[in-house]
Amino acid sequence: MKKILIIYTGGTIGMIYNEVNKTFIPFDFKQIFNQVPEVKRMGLKLTVQSFRPPIDSSNMQPQHWAQIAKAIELHYNEFDGFVVLHGSDTMAYTASALSFMLENLSKPVILTGSQLPVGEIRTDAKENLITSLEIASCEFNGKPAVPEVCIYFDFNLYRGNRTSKYNSEKFEAFQSVNYPVLAEAGVHLKFNHQFINKSTSKQLSVSTVMANEVGILKIFPGITKNWMESVMLAPGVRAIILETFGAGNTPNEPWVKDIIKRTAEAGRIIVNITQCGGGRVDQGRYETSRHLEQAGVISGFDLTTEAALTKLMFLLGKNYNNNRIKEQFQKNLRGEMTN
Ligand code: ASP
Repeated sequence: MKKILIIYTGGTIGMIYNEVNKTFIPFDFKQIFNQVPEVKRMGLKLTVQSFRPPIDSSNMQPQHWAQIAKAIELHYNEFDGFVVLHGSDTMAYTASALSFMLENLSKPVILTGSQLPVGEIRTDAKENLITSLEIASCEFNGKPAVPEVCIYFDFNLYRGNRTSKYNSEKFEAFQSVNYPVLAEAGVHLKFNHQFINKSTSKQLSVSTVMANEVGILKIFPGITKNWMESVMLAPGVRAIILETFGAGNTPNEPWVKDIIKRTAEAGRIIVNITQCGGGRVDQGRYETSRHLEQAGVISGFDLTTEAALTKLMFLLGKNYNNNRIKEQFQKNLRGEMTN
């Protein structure tokens, strides 16, 4: 009998409607089990650990990621797989963060949730939960079928650090534009083994320090010098992600170049990712990105915002010097980028 640890953090999946405030609020896990009696027939030994209290994922912080990572580390040898029930709003951030925090992972960590609470008639919670448990317990050639951090939602299994929430209403809430789905759930569970990380025999190594001295600046037509300067040179920031146009472009007016140059000279790491949903940064392809390359801005290639942010937090948390952080950032650490 496969043993699965369910870590219930909160999210819509376990929410109930509060008639007084007219809002959804997180509720305890027992009612999820009561609503999905099918899981008892799956032939799995399930153990549940709950956040107290469960939270809306908009309240997720790096210390919550650490709490999940520590629970996995502590119980790693006792279980065959892990299912993390989580709100969809920041699920892609948590999945990306966990992928960096859990080095040499050789067991499945499947994040899932739902768009409608488990008690609603048209809920997507039951399918998401049941199939996530099945995936977490699946083997291929005698080893866990998916030894990586994934998101399962609406019949698709995605690599966690390649995923973004793109729709707040559809059951299909997530997309992984720059990487193929790892599995599709139809009549059969169809794994795309060629895209799934291989198991490692190395020992799991868990990092829980995530430094949040980071910022994201989205470039837009009409951005002012004041705004850009105040964000780039804000106190207490060690690294900035620029969400740029297209293949990594920004306005190249002299004042923009000047701010970028001063930010880099102040010892801050600047990362360039595209604000497009898919595709990659190609610095220097256009005149409007050459100045970034010249100022030492590093390319985020095809990283999602969620992966770029959590990768920086992870590397800053390691106490490396800037050169080492830049070098590591441009490497593919967990299948998060194609460079
Ligand atoms: N606000 C909810 C959350 O992220 C939305 C959801 O679960 O889908 O916790």
